[in-house]
Amino acid sequence: MAAHDGSSPLNQPSHQVSDDARGYYTPGEPLVDPVAPVGPIERRWSQRKFDNRLVNPANRRKLDVIIVGTGLAGGSAAATMGEQGYNVKVFCYQDSPRRAHSIAAQGGINAAKNYKEDGDSIHRLFYDTVKGGDYRSRESNVYRLAEVSANIIDQCVAQGVPFAREYGGLLDNRSFGGVQVSRTFYARGQTGQQLLIGAYQALERQVAAGTVTQYTRHEMLELVMVDGKARGIIARNMVTGEIETHLADVVVLASGGYGNVFYLSTNAMGSNVTATWRAHRKGAYMANPCYTQIHPTCIPVSGQHQSKLTLMSESLRNDGRIWVPKRKEDCDKDPRDIPEEDRDYYLERIYPSFGNLVPRDIASRQAKNVCDEGRGVGPMVGDFRRGVYLDFADAIKRLGRSAVEAKYGNLFDMYARITGEDPYETPMRIYPAVHYVMGGLWVDYHLQSTIPGLFVTGEANFSDHGANRLGASALMQGLADGYFVLPNTIREYLADGPFERIDESHPAVAEARASVEERIQKFLSINGTRSADSFHRELGNIMWEYCGMERSEEGLRKAIDMIRELKAAFWSDLRVLGTNESINQSLEKAGRVADFIELGELMCIDALNRRESCGGHFRAESQTEDGEALRHDDEFAYVAAWEWGGEDGQPVLHKEDLIYTAIEMKQRSYK
Ligand SMILES: Cc1cc2nc3c(=O)[nH]c(=O)nc-3n(C[C@H](O)[C@H](O)[C@H](O)COP(=O)(O)OP(=O)(O)OC[C@H]3O[C@@H](n4cnc5c(N)ncnc54)[C@H](O)[C@@H]3O)c2cc1C
Repeated sequence: MAAHDGSSPLNQPSHQVSDDARGYYTPGEPLVDPVAPVGPIERRWSQRKFDNRLVNPANRRKLDVIIVGTGLAGGSAAATMGEQGYNVKVFCYQDSPRRAHSIAAQGGINAAKNYKEDGDSIHRLFYDTVKGGDYRSRESNVYRLAEVSANIIDQCVAQGVPFAREYGGLLDNRSFGGVQVSRTFYARGQTGQQLLIGAYQALERQVAAGTVTQYTRHEMLELVMVDGKARGIIARNMVTGEIETHLADVVVLASGGYGNVFYLSTNAMGSNVTATWRAHRKGAYMANPCYTQIHPTCIPVSGQHQSKLTLMSESLRNDGRIWVPKRKEDCDKDPRDIPEEDRDYYLERIYPSFGNLVPRDIASRQAKNVCDEGRGVGPMVGDFRRGVYLDFADAIKRLGRSAVEAKYGNLFDMYARITGEDPYETPMRIYPAVHYVMGGLWVDYHLQSTIPGLFVTGEANFSDHGANRLGASALMQGLADGYFVLPNTIREYLADGPFERIDESHPAVAEARASVEERIQKFLSINGTRSADSFHRELGNIMWEYCGMERSEEGLRKAIDMIRELKAAFWSDLRVLGTNESINQSLEKAGRVADFIELGELMCIDALNRRESCGGHFRAESQTEDGEALRHDDEFAYVAAWEWGGEDGQPVLHKEDLIYTAIEMKQRSYK
């Protein structure tokens, strides 16, 4: 592990030569994080906390903060800022903050506590995260994340989050992919739920104290900007259809990820891109939109009827062994009848150091490879069997059934309910599925977007995970942002407030509201023949086929053409039933799909531009002889930040160079 003193850069700025996306975008000015810290990496965050101005408690009461999102990122931020005494309004489209998608998180949350004394440290978590992200994340941000990780666990334990404990009462840990230590804290297979309950009770305490007002069943449909600053949102009351204006001194988006652009994903059905896409259209840059995480352990697609896929937590790879038959002829046999010598434990074979715990991008790609070779298992879907085994027979023999049940029982039950098979008796079948997006709105070190006064946290920002997120690091990032980072950075902005009072009659506010009303009327009046859902499914097929696990120049060009045609069809042939003045899920869906279509096109352009393979972005044209991802640091060691180019214009690409001073860039190896 290379550690340097942080005084001199270890790599050069990139100089892109190849440009597959020429003609699809306009080159823009280079982008520099205006608040990037300097100095020794381990002192940057503490120095910044000290340097950022304070807002005195009496003044906090005069400052209005809007937070969109009540998941781990938004819920924790709202609770913390409420506790600090700001006037907070928090929004979610569910009927309770507690139903945010974060509740689905299963496996755990990382922290560099080194409870296992197995060589962990802040620096190792930092290093693993930068390497796991294939050297496409910002060094300072990742170091800060590793640094505050330990505080998160203390905070959550103090809230009463029931993390798993060892016999002696100490908090237990397990391992996740891409690391060789055990640093993942967990609450059985329900870590997200327990953490969210912790954040929720902290939030409700503030609601009771009067510092936070919560708006459930409200969907943000537009960002309000006045004099170049974010000053509020336009939201639709999803029960009555009323269009509401909410104004503030600052707006925080914690609206989650956009993996559902692929239609089928492990995300909650409601997860969408509208909040961030609307902000993007108003000037917030969208960073690395093509970086998508495809999770290796999901229940395989079983047919056309599905609208959602189910994750089987990565924690299962601690004890489960992944294999396929060595011979195609054995693929439809009962797995229990296939003897050891005829099985290919391909991850253990190819990556002896990390085995089944290689990072997600690598495990997913290898699963695809063995299935493409015709060695997949399970029913045929199209021409292929899309499945590999995740086998617990050895673990059950070694630990006993009850120990396995204690660790993973709820996941096994879920698998049995969905597939009708008993995973204690026969190996699970799994296959990769879209799970998480590393892309999102560009933010600086303070988590502020390119729009002054618009901050972005959690999965909604382009985050600290580079081109691939390590397991159990999303919860860490969301809570780091909400409990510890944002409250310390937003004060530098709010120290200049309160800003000039505005009201609903301000022309910019009235215009934002009118645009929302017009758009709703447009959806209701097209009166075509196809549902928003059918457009969404078609978009998802295009994205999965051409911008999924493997991307190529030819495929991406084709996808862009197809998405443009789909967009034209959407705006001429959409049919939305019902009216605005009531609960109307087809109207809600129409708005979300319209935004997904535009995002899908940008994702393909971003993927086309990046002619290298890194993390979750695998370009067929850029691989090593043995099929591993091949980066081109000389050309692509940058964050691609895309500016909205207008309705008929092209997106504008701004590049932020990634300069490393503490870690040397290397081709990743998990062998
Ligand atoms: C099945 C599954 C399991 C996972 N397990 C793990 C794990 O074990 N460990 C880990 O680290 N990560 C895990 N992840 C990833 C992790 O759960 C997410 O990245 C994280 O929870 C995102 O949190 P968030 O607060 O950013 O967003 P979310 O939890 O998605 O919350 C988004 C919030 O924004 C609101 N919102 C969105 N748009 C609007 C709008 N327009 N108007 C109003 N409100 C809006 C929503 O109502 C919601 O309250 C898992 C993901 C999945 C899919």
